[in-house]
This record gives sequence, C-alpha cells and structure tokens, in this order.
Amino acid sequence: TLRTTLTPGQVLFREGDPPDCAYLIESGGIEVKARQRGKDVVLSLLGPGDLVGEMAVIDDSPRTATATAIGEAVLFPIDRSQIAERLAATDPIVRSLLEGQLKRYRGALAALQGQGVEAPTAPMTTSERLGVSKIRLESQLREALAARGLELGLQPLMDVDSGRIAGYEALVRWHHPERGPISPAEFVALAEETSLIVPVGEYVMDAACESVARLVEAGHGQPFVAVNVSARQLSHPGLVERIVARADAARLPRGTLKLEITESQVLDYDLVGEVIALCHAHGIKVALDDFGTGYSHLAHLHRLDFDVLKVDQAFSRNMVADPRAMAVVEAIVQLGRALQAEIVVEGVETRPQLEALRRLGCHYAQGYLIGRPRTLAQILADPVP
Ligand code: C2E
Ligand code: CA
Ligand code: CA
Ligand code: CA
Repeated sequence: TLRTTLTPGQVLFREGDPPDCAYLIESGGIEVKARQRGKDVVLSLLGPGDLVGEMAVIDDSPRTATATAIGEAVLFPIDRSQIAERLAATDPIVRSLLEGQLKRYRGALAALQGQGVEAPTAPMTTSERLGVSKIRLESQLREALAARGLELGLQPLMDVDSGRIAGYEALVRWHHPERGPISPAEFVALAEETSLIVPVGEYVMDAACESVARLVEAGHGQPFVAVNVSARQLSHPGLVERIVARADAARLPRGTLKLEITESQVLDYDLVGEVIALCHAHGIKVALDDFGTGYSHLAHLHRLDFDVLKVDQAFSRNMVADPRAMAVVEAIVQLGRALQAEIVVEGVETRPQLEALRRLGCHYAQGYLIGRPRTLAQILADPVP
C-alpha cells in the first residue's frame, strides 16, 4: 500500500527538512508546531481530509514547522511531482497568486512566532476543497492502479451478416472502495489532467491483449479487440511503439488490434494523421469513435485514413421510430462504404434496430441487445460459441 502510518508522537517532518512530499490525512490527526524562543507553538491541528506539508513542496523551500502525529495517523503521501506537474500546468496568474499567498503566510508565521500567539484557524475555501477532493480521487486511482483495482469490461461486437461475435471493445472499470463503481467518463477525464492516463492506458492495453489471448486459448476463435485511446495519450511520444511491443509480447496478431479515437478529441489533424500512418505501418487499425457527435470533421475526413467509423448511439437510438434518423444512419453507412471504412453502429438495444442495420449493410453492431460489457471471467464461463 502507498499509505504511511504514524504511531502517536511520531514526527512526520521537522523544521528545516527538505520538502520531499506533502500528505493527505486519511485518519487521525497531525499537530504542526514551530519553535520560538525555546518554546513550541502549535500552528495548526489537522484532521482527516486535510493536507499537510504542501506549502514547502509548492515553493520548494525547507519546512518551516515540525509535524507530529496525535494518536495513530494514516497518511497518503502526495508525490512532489504530482504537485509540481499541476503547478506547472496552472494558469500563471493563479500560480503567482498562490506564491504571493505563501509569502504572506510565511511573513505572518514569522510575526506570530515573535509574539507567541495561539494557532489561527484558516478554513479551506470551496475551490481548495474541490481541488483536494480531486487530488484525493487521483491518489486513490493511483493506488487502484498499483493494487490492480481496475478491471476491464469487454463488450461484444456482432458481425451483422453472420450474427457471430467478431470482437470486443475494452471498457475500463473502477470499483471505488467507498463510492462503488465510477464511470470511466469521470475518471478517465481526471487521469487526463495529469499523465496518469498513460499508466491507466497501459493497464487497459495489457489487460485487453491478455484477454484476447485467453479467449483464443479457450476456443473463441480469433476475436479483435478495440481499445480507447484519449488525445492526451496520442500526444505522448512513443505511444504506438509501446502498444506494438505489448501486443507482440502477448502474441496478439496485430491485425486484431483496433484503436478508438473519439471524434471530439480530434483537434490536431496532423498528429492524428501521423498516428494513423504509424498504426498502419504496424498493421494496427484505427476507428473514429462517436462519429457525428463532435465538431464536424467531414471536411477533414478524407485526409484522415480511418479504418472504422463508429456511429454514436445518438443516431441509432431513434432510427426505427424516426425516418430522418434512419436516413442519417443510412448516409453514414454509404459514406463508410465510399471511404472503404467499416461501419460499427453503437447503442443497438432492440431487434428492429439490428434488422434495420442488416438491411443497410452495416458491418458491426454493438449494444445491450448484443451484450453488455462483461469481465473476461464471465465470458469464459459461457459455453464456447
Ligand atoms: P465509448 O467508447 O463511446 O463507449 C461506449 C459506452 O456506451 C460504454 O460506456 C458502454 O458501456 C455504453 N454502451 C454500450 N452499449 C450500449 C447500449 O446499448 N445502450 C447504452 N445506453 N449504452 C451502451 P462506458 O463503459 O461507461 O464508457 C464511457 C466512455 O469512457 C467510453 O465511451 C470511452 O470514451 C471512455 N472509456 C472507456 N474505457 C476507456 C479506456 O480504457 N481508455 C480511455 N481513454 N477511455 C475510455
Ligand atoms: Ca469507444
Ligand atoms: Ca462510442
Ligand atoms: Ca461515447
């Protein structure tokens, strides 16, 4: 575990120590004291949910006080780099306000020490609390990652012509110890704010490759696996090379790996174009996810050589009831054919939807009618198709 436990009276850090990290108090209390004229003065008493030691980390200066555990205390270390990264990404005005605030705080501290006044209490502002709860969630995600607390859901894609399961989309899951399951829509965005998305993505890639290997072993044919990658991952150098190395290590035929890039995240056409070219050079396919919901990329579509277009649920939802929605899906299927891209329609929940897709000549259907995302163990428990 990443937590630190202190016994009653144990010192966390001393005045003058170099600032290696900050701490989030999980349970118990911490007393922060400074020495003046040979006497210890209590500056603050901190409890669960409070941060301690972040000040010296933020402006990279020696500790100005000594922190000691009151009773047994459990702390979550917040890595220097975790704070430094956020600080570097911060709006420069906010950063200078923060630095000013710290200077004033240190000044007040010195004055206080000179007068021997009792500890002042400064409650956290709402935005500070929000920031701390985000950092807390991020730390827990980091811990979940280390403790294999993330899981993969595999959702089947049906080959519409044959009715067979042709592959799966890998969807990451987080079972939070207190909050229960957290949607990837929430924590992927959080992980994207720092480079934490990189190890999360690597976990997903490894688990996806391993899952396919196990399915092949168990006689499920040779299904493809589609893995979501976010824009932040795309701009991380060496992404495709690392993906290829992982797929090869898992002995996954490269042609069975598809990367999904969400349309609304395609902002840098040159970068995405390079990623697609590199994927193709390695035999990996690339899908444009949530097609039609982001900004309109129709003007750029011809430049981006996607192998798959994934039609969002927003279109399939009403296609049976609304002829205009049907016309849009039909047009996208034709567009895909003209661009020699495969078409996947998502959010297929009813039989009439599936029948309509068969008539339109759509390649793959994905949705609750075909199957919900399930764990590898659940899929392996089924009889072999
Ligand atoms: P997405 O890639 O568009 O994934 C499809 C989402 O629709 C999934 O939600 C899936 O469970 C849900 N879904 C599938 N079939 C149906 C259906 O018939 N009806 C309805 N109402 N919903 C259906 P989920 O798993 O909550 O994922 C949400 C989003 O989180 C994904 O959207 C994807 O953008 C992102 N995400 C998931 N896993 C990863 C990951 O490993 N890495 C990254 N970067 N993003 C991920
Ligand atoms: Ca997707
Ligand atoms: Ca999608
Ligand atoms: Ca989506």
